[in-house]
Amino acid sequence: MTERIFEAQNKATSLLEQKGLDRGAVRLLMEYVTGKSHASLLASMRDSLTMEEQTRFWDKVDELLEGKPVQYVIGSESFYGRTFEVDNNVLIPRPETEELIHGAIERCQRLFHNKKVKVADIGTGSGAIAVTFKKEWPEAMVTATDISAGALTIAMKNAERNAATITFKEGDMTEPIQDAKWDLVLSNPPYIAHEEAELMSPTVLSFEPHNALFAEEDGLYFYRKLAESLPHLMNKPGLIGVEFGYLQGESVRKLFTDAFPKAFIEIVKDINGKDRILFCEIHE
Ligand code: SAM
Ligand code: GLN
Repeated sequence: MTERIFEAQNKATSLLEQKGLDRGAVRLLMEYVTGKSHASLLASMRDSLTMEEQTRFWDKVDELLEGKPVQYVIGSESFYGRTFEVDNNVLIPRPETEELIHGAIERCQRLFHNKKVKVADIGTGSGAIAVTFKKEWPEAMVTATDISAGALTIAMKNAERNAATITFKEGDMTEPIQDAKWDLVLSNPPYIAHEEAELMSPTVLSFEPHNALFAEEDGLYFYRKLAESLPHLMNKPGLIGVEFGYLQGESVRKLFTDAFPKAFIEIVKDINGKDRILFCEIHE
């Protein structure tokens, strides 16, 4: 006899809770294993799993019990209403980054109207920013870069599965986009200082790629690089949007104010009320 869905879920939930792990993972895993939506799963709680589903479910629960994020276990994350494939080459896209895109779109509507904006996403990872922007602003011409070939492979798959036409380039920060001028540059670079590693959740630290998380100079290295190189690369009007760590706002503001003394610079808070995003509007 195989287990019923609710029995397997309850057992897995208590095993995760005993280890202090997130119980929400169980529902996502069951949806993945059975191929059912959340609603249809709720209606089938008393159904029995097939033998194959039961085996797969418990194999994957073992991975969760090792602390692996559920998104890597099931191979995807939802972002801005779309599904993005993820593996251990890419950061799992975060809700704060949805706010970066939302804020950029609002400002672009005001600055560029419906112009065919030229957009670059630096350090694209899963492609979350580039693909989402292209889907939300289909007229945009979007280029996405990353230094990691493994990340670009996943980003390309995500562009394809979401039917978004994007130019991908491998290389260090703005080096692959020197050949043009840009209306909008977006980036969520690595921003965690190495010293902060000990404060981080083991689930992030042991499973997410360190080249997506950590940066030199107290986590500010990539903002300094962007502030140095972008003045030669922006159109006027132009917009830069970057995500940063919640204590870095004033340091990041200073780097961009020095690089763009005449620009209009704003710091925007995330839904948790923490400084998270800087927008730099360049008019002259
Ligand atoms: N944009 C994605 C997102 O928001 O979910 C991923 C952001 S992740 C925090 C930072 C990304 O920057 C990683 O994909 C990493 O490979 C890339 N990266 C790290 N160093 C880089 C460099 N020197 N030049 C370009 N990309 C870099
Ligand atoms: N927001 C991620 C975290 O808290 C870090 C992403 C980044 O460094 N850009 O783990």
